[in-house]
Amino acid sequence: MRYSGFRVALEGLRGNRGWTRAWRDPEPKAAYDTLIVGGGGHGLSTAYYLARNHGLRDIAVLERGLLGQGNVGRNTTIVRANYFLPGNSEFYSFSLRLWEGLEAELNYNVMHSQRGLINLFHSDGQRDAFVRRGNAMLAQGDDAILLDRDGVREHLPYLDFDNARFPIHGGLLHPRGGTARHDAVAWGYARAADRLGVDLIQRCEVTGIDVENGRVTGVQTTRGPIRANRVGLVVAGRSSQVAAMAGLRLPIESHILQAFVTEGLKPVIDHVVSFGMGHFYISQSDKGGLVFGGDLDFHASYASRGNLPMMEHVMEAGMALMPMIGRARVLRSWGGIMDMTPDGSPIIDRTPVEGLFVDCGWNYGGFKAVPASGWCMAHLMATGEPHEVAARFRLDRFRTGRGLMDEEGTGSQHSLH
Ligand SMILES: Cc1cc2nc3c(=O)[nH]c(=O)nc-3n(C[C@H](O)[C@H](O)[C@H](O)COP(=O)(O)OP(=O)(O)OC[C@H]3O[C@@H](n4cnc5c(N)ncnc54)[C@H](O)[C@@H]3O)c2cc1C
Repeated sequence: MRYSGFRVALEGLRGNRGWTRAWRDPEPKAAYDTLIVGGGGHGLSTAYYLARNHGLRDIAVLERGLLGQGNVGRNTTIVRANYFLPGNSEFYSFSLRLWEGLEAELNYNVMHSQRGLINLFHSDGQRDAFVRRGNAMLAQGDDAILLDRDGVREHLPYLDFDNARFPIHGGLLHPRGGTARHDAVAWGYARAADRLGVDLIQRCEVTGIDVENGRVTGVQTTRGPIRANRVGLVVAGRSSQVAAMAGLRLPIESHILQAFVTEGLKPVIDHVVSFGMGHFYISQSDKGGLVFGGDLDFHASYASRGNLPMMEHVMEAGMALMPMIGRARVLRSWGGIMDMTPDGSPIIDRTPVEGLFVDCGWNYGGFKAVPASGWCMAHLMATGEPHEVAARFRLDRFRTGRGLMDEEGTGSQHSLH
C-alpha cells in the first residue's frame, strides 16, 4: 500500500478499515544468503540498501526484541552534519543529503524538520574552534553561519546570556540541522525493506555465531539455527557481547546516555540548542514536549536506565541556560546503551572472520548516521569494498594507531597498550 494524503483522506471516510500491516511477520527460514543481526536504525537501513542498491533478496534481519525498541527509538532525534574531521565530515554530509530525500525514498513521514541547530560558545578560544569547524563544514559543502551574541539573541531571546555559568559570546548556526521522529525512521526502513522482500524476524535473539575454518556459516538463535555465509553485526550497545560470540574483542565500551521529556507546551523553542560547556542540549518535539539531555553517565553498563547524579547535572545546566524551563514538569526519563569507541568515531568494516562484518561504535551520535551507515554497510557487504565516504571507519586503526579520528573520543589510545 502506498501512503499519501489522498489515502489518509480516503481511509478517514471509510472508517480507517483499509490500512494493511506495515510489514509481514514471517517465520525464520533455515538458511538465508545474508543475515543482519539487530533491528535498530542501522540494521534496518543496511537490509533496505542491500535490497534496494544491490538487488539482494534473500535477507533476514534478526531482532531480539521488537523493531525500534533499542536506541533508535530512545534518542533525542538530532540530525546534523557539523563534524570537523576528515573521515567523519564527508560521511555525515552524505548522510544529511540522504535524510533530505528520505521521506520520498521510503514513502514514510519521518518528520524530518530542518529547524536549525545552534552550538553556543563562551570564550574566544571556543569561538576560534567553532570558526574552524564552520569552515570545515562549508568546505564540505554544508552550511554554517557564525553568530555573535546579538545574532544568538535574535534567534534565542530566552537564554540567560550573562549568568548561564559561562557568559554566551555567540554561536555556530547550522541551518540544515534539525530533528526527525526517531521511531518513524525505524518503521519507515522496516516497511520499505519488507516491501523489497526482506524478512524481519522479531523476538529472535542471536545466542551464538557459527564459525568453521575461519568463515562464518550461520548463527544460533532463540528460534533455532539459521545458516548464512554473510552476516552483519549491527547491534549498537551490544556489539562487544555479540562479537565475542565469534571470538572477537572489539574496542567498544558500553555506556549509558540519558534523556528527558517534559509535558507538552505551546511552541517555545524552535531550534536545537546545544550548550557544550554545561553538557546540555534541547529541542521541542512536535507534540510540544521539551526533549533534552546531557553527557554520558560515565560508567560502563548494560542497564537501559540512568543514574541520579547525571540527572541532577543535566537539570542544573538547563536551568542555568534557560531558567524558564524550571516551570515545565518532567514527564519521563530513560537511558540507552551507547557503543563508545576510544576515538569517538565509528566502525564499518570486515572482521578477521570471513563473511562476518561489523557496523558499530556510533557513540552518542548514531541516529543521524542511520541512512549513510546502512548505505555504506550494504556496499561493504555486497561488494567486499568499503564505500568511499566510510573508508576510514576501519577496525585496525585501534591496533595500529594509524587513522584515529579523535572526534571527542575520551578513551585510551589502544596502539600504545
Ligand atoms: C538518550 C539518547 C540520546 C541520543 N541522541 C542522539 C541524537 O540526538 N542524535 C544522534 O544522531 N544520535 C543520538 N543517540 C545515539 C543513537 O540513538 C544511536 O547511536 C543509534 O540509534 C545506534 O544504532 P541503532 O539505531 O542501530 O541501535 P539500536 O536501535 O539499539 O539497534 C540495535 C538492535 O540490536 C538488537 N540486538 C542486540 N543484541 C542482539 C542479539 N543478540 N540478537 C538480536 N538482536 C540484538 C537490539 O535489541 C537493538 O534493537 C542517542 C542515544 C540515546 C540513548
